[in-house]
Amino acid sequence: MYFCTNLLFRLLSNHLRKPIQEMIYPIVAYGDPVLKKVAQPIDKNSSLDIKKLAEDMFETMYQAKGVGLAAPQIGMSIRMFVIDAEALDDEDEKLKGMKKVFINAQMLEETGEEWAFEEGCLSIPGIRGDVERKDKITIRYNDLDWNEHTETYEGLAARVIQHEYDHIEGKLFIEYLAPVKKQVIKNKLTGIAKGIVKVDYRMKFVK
Ligand SMILES: [Zn+2]
Repeated sequence: MYFCTNLLFRLLSNHLRKPIQEMIYPIVAYGDPVLKKVAQPIDKNSSLDIKKLAEDMFETMYQAKGVGLAAPQIGMSIRMFVIDAEALDDEDEKLKGMKKVFINAQMLEETGEEWAFEEGCLSIPGIRGDVERKDKITIRYNDLDWNEHTETYEGLAARVIQHEYDHIEGKLFIEYLAPVKKQVIKNKLTGIAKGIVKVDYRMKFVK
C-alpha cells in the first residue's frame, strides 16, 4: 500500500512539475551536412520559442547522457547550445551546478596554455580522442531572457563550452585529432555516417 501511494504521489508530482511534455529529438549523426555548417544567429523577434527549445535540448542531452548539446546536433542550424556539466563535477569543483544556455555566442578570446583532454561527442558515438585546447576563454552570449553576458571560463568548464561552440561554427572535435588517430577512426566514421553503430539513444543518420 505504501508503495502504491508513494508511486501515485510520484506520478502526480511529476505530472504537476512538467505540465508540458519535453520533446526528445533524435541526435544527428556524423555525416550530416548540418554538422559542418556555420550556424545562423537567432533573431530576438523570431517566432521560435527558445525557452521550450532549451528544455527539449536539455532533455535530449540527459537521455543521451551528454554534458553539452548544440542545436545543429538536433538538425537546427542556429547559434544555440546548452551545457550541464554536473556529471563532470568530480573532476572540477567549479563545474558544480553549471547548467547554462548560450544564445548567439561569440568567442572573444582564447588564451593560456594548450592542454589535452579526451573528448567525445554525441554525434560521433564510440569515438574518443585527445584534443588540445587553450585553457581560458572569454565568451559573450545572450541568456534565455536575452540578457547579454560576457564571461571568462577556465579548465574543464572552458573545454565543454569550446566543444559546443565549435558545433555552431560547423566544427567537430575529430578535426583536431592527430593524423595517425584520424586514420585509425576512418572506417568507424564511415560506419557511423551509414548508421552502422551501436548506440543506446535515438539518432538520425544520413544513409
Ligand atoms: Zn559534440
